[in-house]
Amino acid sequence: MIYKKNSLLMDGFRIDFLGHKFKTPMYCYSSKKIRNNILNFKNIFKKINPLICYAVKANSNLSILKEIKNHDLGADVVSIGELMKALKAGIKPQKIVFSGVGKTSEEIEYAINKNILLINAESKSEILQIEKIAKKRKKIVNIGIRLNPNTDAGTLSQISTGKKENKFGVNQKLFLELVNFSKRSKYLKLKCLSVHIGSQILNHMPYQRMLGVVNKTINLSRHQFEYIDLGGGMGIDYEHKNLSLNFKKYSQNISNFVKKNNCKIIFEPGRSIIGNTAVLITKVIYVKEGYKKDFIILDAAMNDLMRPALYGAKHKILPSRKNKRISKKVYEFVGPVCESTDKFATLLKFQKLKERDFLVICDVGAYGTSLASNYNLRPKPIEVLIKGKNIQIIKKRQKLSELI
Ligand SMILES: *Cc1c(COP(=O)(O)O)cnc(C)c1O
Repeated sequence: MIYKKNSLLMDGFRIDFLGHKFKTPMYCYSSKKIRNNILNFKNIFKKINPLICYAVKANSNLSILKEIKNHDLGADVVSIGELMKALKAGIKPQKIVFSGVGKTSEEIEYAINKNILLINAESKSEILQIEKIAKKRKKIVNIGIRLNPNTDAGTLSQISTGKKENKFGVNQKLFLELVNFSKRSKYLKLKCLSVHIGSQILNHMPYQRMLGVVNKTINLSRHQFEYIDLGGGMGIDYEHKNLSLNFKKYSQNISNFVKKNNCKIIFEPGRSIIGNTAVLITKVIYVKEGYKKDFIILDAAMNDLMRPALYGAKHKILPSRKNKRISKKVYEFVGPVCESTDKFATLLKFQKLKERDFLVICDVGAYGTSLASNYNLRPKPIEVLIKGKNIQIIKKRQKLSELI
């Protein structure tokens, strides 16, 4: 995103132009950014040569999945719907892992039928269920077991997953029991230990502690794991303050780990691949003057982008056209939905705005559209992808007639 003659551009296209042409609210993605993110990710971990399984839940638009597949990534899925869509995008079953605490027998059967790389189990009951289905099908099924390493990711509590009070994975003691159980089973082939401690992680220390716990657990299990799946969670710089995870340290720690454990690494990045590749373009419907602050009422709302309402997430907001007049009052950017949490930001010293101005909400590629809903009976927004000089509509705006 850059300003040229005070106009905000995305990959050479003026935001005002995009807003007028496709109407707002609209999601706009950059194919170039997706490519750059993937090449960077691969480059950082070049020495480790990992299998990169993109976490489909971050963004499951079919065209986006195809872009990602064209860079040879696999997929991490958490439901039969995501699995079907990953396959539809052309991602090879041998590059797909299935995570999640509540896979139903229907989902497990489907995954077994499709011969995906791994089903990462998260409980004893699930392992028993997988074994039962495998036995019925007379098939040997490749599984992983998700360890809960009891590691604080130091991120928002709502997106932390690796502490003992979280529902994810099994503790070390149970993990070791399940390793022994799986090894005795004729129908299970235990190939993987998986972990995922949370999301939007910007400090490498939680990862380092996690690797320590994993290392110890492997030693105690005395099992040769073919794969170690380290999950995702790498954070991005939402506040544009040059914050980033120290990838060099993380990668170095993993290199040392691999030397000791001789295994193939799997990553499941979502946000770090897709987060900063999209903006939500929105228009000011009204400026509602308040006593101490003005409400900037946008045509985008929490149903289009739920992260701020759901977990107080911050997203940068930029005007499509810069001016030098600064508002004396605080601006509160809100949507039209009937909830007080339908609020994107409260900002001081924003430039003066007027009705019909366009704004962009930045870094909405991950957990933006995938969390969108029809709350207040609002249709889901249009999604477009900039690809070089072309703009493709990759999801039409939902028609009201579909909802009514
Ligand atoms: C959500 C999730 C991911 C992706 O997390 P990001 O923070 O988007 O990288 C990876 N693995 C599992 C098991 C997940 O639940």
